[in-house]
Amino acid sequence: MEVVIGTASAKQGEKSHGVLEITNSSAGFPIAIPVVIVNGVESGPMLVANAAMHGTESLGTIAISRFYKMIDPELLKGTFIGVPILNTWAFEAGHRLPTLLDSFDLERRFPGNIDGSISDRIAYKFMNEIVRHADCLIDFHGQDQYWHPTSAIIVPLPKPQGNVDPESYQKCIEAADAFRVRQIWRCNKPGSVTEAIMNETGIPAISPEFGGVTDYRRKGEFIELAIQGIMNVMKWLGILEGQITSRDYKTCICDSHKVLNHRGGIWSTSAEPEDEMMEGSTVGTISDPITAEVLEVIKAPFQGVLTNLWCAPVIKAASMALGLGKVVEYI
Ligand SMILES: [Zn+2]
Repeated sequence: MEVVIGTASAKQGEKSHGVLEITNSSAGFPIAIPVVIVNGVESGPMLVANAAMHGTESLGTIAISRFYKMIDPELLKGTFIGVPILNTWAFEAGHRLPTLLDSFDLERRFPGNIDGSISDRIAYKFMNEIVRHADCLIDFHGQDQYWHPTSAIIVPLPKPQGNVDPESYQKCIEAADAFRVRQIWRCNKPGSVTEAIMNETGIPAISPEFGGVTDYRRKGEFIELAIQGIMNVMKWLGILEGQITSRDYKTCICDSHKVLNHRGGIWSTSAEPEDEMMEGSTVGTISDPITAEVLEVIKAPFQGVLTNLWCAPVIKAASMALGLGKVVEYI
């Protein structure tokens, strides 16, 4: 069957790329969602992967575009749909939000509204014309310019603590496990595409928190893991043949909590993401930028694993110095 999204159309055994139009800017430029389609030779399940929901998080963009370039439709029993840049105007601005259009966080606007703000309309079109028919969604994020790069997956919390059905949560854990990461973080994210699509259709929807911009040396490693993750999920769905990548570690499922510092200043840490911390152990210090006196010692408030870790040399007061995960289980 031919797959058509906006100006992209691919018959069985074909690839195509194009755009799904939203509207136009005041200067007359298109506001649109770029789409790539790889339609397999045989029909089967559909995987949708998007990136750059936040304009500065581009690791998934690179992974999706490279995967599109390299994959042969002859190998697919089903369909891959990629949206390498969902929030194009935020991406262009090099900003988390599409500030030239509106100042909303797209990640909090789902399921969207066709009569709402630009972000609401992007959310609505993406949700209804791309994601709704999928069997699984991978929504790539990628840290910001302040935290250590990571390779985790965020899944929505199940009821009663969270908002999603326990059955679709379990499918999410299976999809996240198939992707192959060392940490799965459970977080409540009302208004996210993952929670919205899971509540409307029950399909598993996962958000890799992948890569980061503070250590360019590791970029290649994360891109490789992200492409491998896409292929692993396609194998899990039955779109690609072959074995999911084997592993020699247990994946940690944890509930991630933000730990905010009180003081601003110079940040110093010798910890690494994924380190296990005992309750009360020191994660980092904040020093006075004038006298170098230690102003605050940041300690782990409970026993857990580090999820996020601040890494910029300067930290403002009341920032997220770290994320600490309370371990739920190892799988
Ligand atoms: Zn993000």
